[in-house]
Parts: sequence; structure tokens; C-alpha cells
Amino acid sequence: MNRSSVTILGAGLCGALLAIVLARRGIKVSMLERSPDPRTSEAARGRSINLAMAARGIRGLKHAGVFDLVEPLLVPMKGRCVHNLDGTTQHHLYGQRETEKIYSVSRAALNEILVDAAETEYKVQIKFGQEAVTYYPEEATLRVRDLDTGNDYDVRAKPLIASDGAGSAVRRAFADTDIIGGTEDLLQHRYKELVIPGGPNGEFQLEQNALHIWPRGGFMLIALPNPGGDFTLTLFLPVEGKISFASLDTDSKVQAFFDELFPDIVPLIDDLIGSWNRNPAGVLGTVRSRHWHDRGNVLLIGDAAHAVVPFHGQGMNLAFEDCVVLDQVLENPDADWATVFDVFENEQIANANAIADMALENYVEMRDTVRDPKHQLQQQLAFALEKRLPNRFIPRYSMIMFHDEIPYAIAQKRGAIQQKLLDDLTDRADEMADIDLDAAVAEVERRLPPIH
Ligand SMILES: Cc1cc2nc3c(=O)[nH]c(=O)nc-3n(C[C@H](O)[C@H](O)[C@H](O)COP(=O)(O)OP(=O)(O)OC[C@H]3O[C@@H](n4cnc5c(N)ncnc54)[C@H](O)[C@@H]3O)c2cc1C
Repeated sequence: MNRSSVTILGAGLCGALLAIVLARRGIKVSMLERSPDPRTSEAARGRSINLAMAARGIRGLKHAGVFDLVEPLLVPMKGRCVHNLDGTTQHHLYGQRETEKIYSVSRAALNEILVDAAETEYKVQIKFGQEAVTYYPEEATLRVRDLDTGNDYDVRAKPLIASDGAGSAVRRAFADTDIIGGTEDLLQHRYKELVIPGGPNGEFQLEQNALHIWPRGGFMLIALPNPGGDFTLTLFLPVEGKISFASLDTDSKVQAFFDELFPDIVPLIDDLIGSWNRNPAGVLGTVRSRHWHDRGNVLLIGDAAHAVVPFHGQGMNLAFEDCVVLDQVLENPDADWATVFDVFENEQIANANAIADMALENYVEMRDTVRDPKHQLQQQLAFALEKRLPNRFIPRYSMIMFHDEIPYAIAQKRGAIQQKLLDDLTDRADEMADIDLDAAVAEVERRLPPIH
């Protein structure tokens, strides 16, 4: 089967990792990327300064043989540190095994490493400053603009893999057809990033190995550590309404909002008002598509196929999982591109839809439910059940973050059964002492099959 070359559109996190994976398979890879080279351009550094990496992301990096390059960048986060309005904090471990951590990683540094490895080690040809304008499905042709010269030219899709992100020009080119059936649901909340710099000697000004959350009901602030001692803060807030980006329309209102709702953190934020005014409010949304490919000519992958809101920290992790799954499908030497794309879609689409749902649910948990004593009791019970029944009851968060061998769709299904069990078992309980753990174990064994 001739699968000797491929063009990848978008040298973001997914595109760059995929280029390495395919090149390692002996496929000749050319890439087109709108932005300038991230290794030489400050302008290319921008969006979301750090990301949470979990088991699926790490698996993708290991599969591509680049984990050793990335590992030094990772800052472990063992759990959530919840900051209450009265200044008190609570620590909630993410998992109960020493290995059950997630990791903060700089998006820009990660992207640079992947692009560099693709180009230098795996001889991927990458052209920067090349913007896809549109895609013509019937001609299987991508129209590209060279942003230096302003000239347009066409590239044949033989095939084209579009990893051009949530606003994918390729996916949108199918909008008037039934072929892809993409939908974009924008959340009525946006995000803005701020920074807590490191202390005078580069020390962390908040606990280093935690993801910090200031849950405030309808909105929240979070902070992730960076290796240099600084934290990236992200405020998630409704677009409109009483407390919203629209209502915070003067410097004094912004200052008063932070003073009132995040008093413990205000003195640590670098140039709050200046950063607020300089940094744009980013859009959040879910992209779902009925299909991810067209006749072996083009495949959507990563956010282009299935952007998810960031509240489970899984968009990149899912995109890296995509790269592994696609590579596994390519193990079959007899499959042509159309078959490869079809099998890949069938493997991953239910998983992408499942994590899209669970990411939306997790926003409510992070900004609100995490403060609820019943929720905290359920977390304790979930850990206790996992200890007693490790092959049967694994908390949903752990299935998603630490168990890359459990597909997201299974985590969603088992998670629903588990949540019902936790609701029933804590119905009349206020603390662990109120729960008969042996009876709870028996109930789990009755209602939840072992995991295979
Ligand atoms: C606020 C925020 C926080 C997040 N936090 C996390 C997290 O903690 N953990 C996690 O796993 N995920 C997180 N994500 C999601 C993660 O950023 C994405 O899932 C991931 O970047 C997807 O990778 P991608 O390569 O598919 O898309 P992108 O990273 O968006 O890359 C797309 C690439 O295509 C290029 N491109 C776009 N259009 C064109 C065009 N027309 N022509 C040529 N090139 C083009 C872009 O320049 C870019 O390089 C977060 C997202 C946001 C917004």
C-alpha cells in the first residue's frame, strides 16, 4: 500500500508530535504552519502559557521517543489546593499512589521541542508563515497563502492531515456539506491569563506542587506552577452578567473585584490592571464532528476534529492520544489511507465525545462543587473503595488522568455508575464514620463489574 508521504497542516502540539510519529514510520512528512518559527520568534509565543499533562500525554510523548526531552520541563502537581474566601486552604490529593500526579508544562517550550525534534532529528520539512485559506473537497486541494509574499498557491491533499486547531480552516471548508458535520459550541465563559512572578530568589510564592483553585461559584481562578518559580493564573468568567467580563469595564471595578474575591492573591499578581488590559479574553468552546475524514484525502485530528473545554486539562492529552491511536492503526500494512482514517475515527470519536462532556462537567466541579462537604466525603469514600477494590472502583478523575489504558468512553460509563453509588452510599452520611465500608464494598461488587 502506498503510504509514502503526507502533508500536515498546523505545527502546534498535535501536528508536531504527529509529524515525529509518522516520520519514525518512514513516511515523508511536510508541514505548513501559519505562525512564524516558534524557535526564533517571540510573536509565536502567546496563548495559554502552561498546560496540565497527564498519563495520555506522557504516553504520546514516550510513543514518539521524545519524553526524555520534555521531562525536565515538567512541574509535578500532586493535588488541588483550594483557596477559600476567608483565606484558608484545603488540599485534595488527585490520587492515592505516589505516581498519581499531573504535570504543569510550558506550552511554548513543549511546542519548540517537538518542532525542533521533528525538523532536526526526523527531517520533517516545515514551512512557517503559510496560512491555509480554505480547502476544496471535490478537488482535494488546499489553498495556502504565503504570509511573507501574500501569494496564494494550491497543495494537493494526498493525503492532508489537518491539525490546524479549534478554528480549523479545513473543517470549516466542509460547513456546507454533510461530509464532516462539524459543530462549534462556544461557552458563554472566557478566560484571561495573569502572572504571579517568582520571589526575589526565584522561589515559588504559593505551594509549588499543586494546582491552585479559587472556586467562587459561577466562576473561578486557577494557578499552575512554572519551572522558573512563577505561576500562570487563569481567570474563567462569564462573558455577560452581574459578575462578568462585560461588567468589569473599568480599572477600579477590576481592582475591587480582585480585592473582594481573591484578597489572598492580589498582592502577588504582577501588574494586575496593566495585564488585565493587555491580555485578551480567550474564547472557550467544544468542537464535535460526525466524521473526521473525507475519502482518504483529508483527516482532521487534535482540536481541529474535537476541541474540548480545558476544565479537565485534557485537550492536548487527547490530541497526543490521537497520535498514538493513528500510529497503531498504521500497523496494518495493507490498509490504504481511507481505511486508516476510517478505523482511526471509529476508535477515537466516542472517546472524544466522552471527554468533551466530562470536561464541561468538571467546570462545575472546579468552580463550585469542590467546596461542598458532601463532594469531599464522596472523594474520601471513592479512595477508600479504590483501596479495597482496585480492579473495580477507580475514581473517574483517576481513570481520566492516570489510566491511559482506560478509554475515555469507558471512564464516562463507569463514572456514571460510580457516581450513583457514591450518591446512594453517602445519602445519609456526613463523615466516613457514618458509612459501613464492608456493606459499601458489597454494594459496589453487586452494581459495578470488574474492569478489564
Ligand atoms: C486556556 C486553555 C487551557 C488549556 N489547558 C490545557 C491543559 O491543561 N491540558 C491539556 O491537555 N489541554 C489544555 N488545553 C487544550 C490544548 O491547548 C489543545 O487541546 C491543544 O493545543 C490542541 O493541539 P492542536 O495541535 O490540535 O491545536 P493547536 O495547539 O491550536 O495548534 C494548531 C496549530 O495550527 C496552526 N494553524 C491554525 N490555523 C491555521 C491555518 N489556517 N493555516 C496554517 N496553520 C494554522 C496554529 O498556528 C497552531 O500552530 C487548554 C486550552 C486552553 C484554551
